[in-house]
Amino acid sequence: MTETPATGTHDETPPIGEADVTAGLEDVRALIRRAAEDNERDPASVHLVAISKTAPAEVILPALEAGQRLFGENYVQEAKAKWPALRERFPDVELHFVGPLQSNKAREAVELFDVIHSLDRLSLAAAIAKESERVGRQPKLLIQVNTGDEAQKAGVAPDAVETLLAECRSTHGLTIQGLMCIPPAEDPPSPHFALLARIADRHRLPILSMGMSADFPAAIQMGATHVRVGTAIFGARARKG
Ligand SMILES: *Cc1c(COP(=O)(O)O)cnc(C)c1O
Repeated sequence: MTETPATGTHDETPPIGEADVTAGLEDVRALIRRAAEDNERDPASVHLVAISKTAPAEVILPALEAGQRLFGENYVQEAKAKWPALRERFPDVELHFVGPLQSNKAREAVELFDVIHSLDRLSLAAAIAKESERVGRQPKLLIQVNTGDEAQKAGVAPDAVETLLAECRSTHGLTIQGLMCIPPAEDPPSPHFALLARIADRHRLPILSMGMSADFPAAIQMGATHVRVGTAIFGARARKG
């Protein structure tokens, strides 16, 4: 194999090295700082959730060693296989679930994750409430909003947020801390971020989870408190992720 950098421009994904992860993390941190300062925000008000889905433990380790503590995963089973051992070494890790969640996975999700970004229906709220009661601990909960009204995408429609919020609170006694969105790939993201920020503001929800590798500076401009960045830290994933 020739020595090409892991830019993801080739068909096969080269294995990413420790130095690449550390450098990627440094770059992302610097860009977050700059975007915050450009918008007269305190950089400490923007939290980086490193999205480690599909990354094996040896790729996650350099990020942990560089002080990263917030991580996000999309698949419950994958997270269950990777994180208990990593958490023994780094007990202050905060684990975020950002993928679509089936109600029959609610038990494992509540046991494993500190924050769930993808609450989007009442049946899932019921399952989370039941398991939280059982475990004696409720993860922080964000409602995922389908700001682009895309048929194939998870999330509640913007005009249904109010009803879901009210029902989560009154029917299930759940505290909702914020909102999350994934803008349509073909749209400029900023109007979606602005819409999410308006809805959160209207309901006085403090957490705004928005912005990924391609657009997190724009999300910070629009008020993101949590950006979810994978590729820019861990390199390109194989197709599925
Ligand atoms: C994969 C994923 C991310 C990270 O995307 P990148 O483009 O790799 O930064 C963020 N949020 C969600 C919900 C994801 O599924």
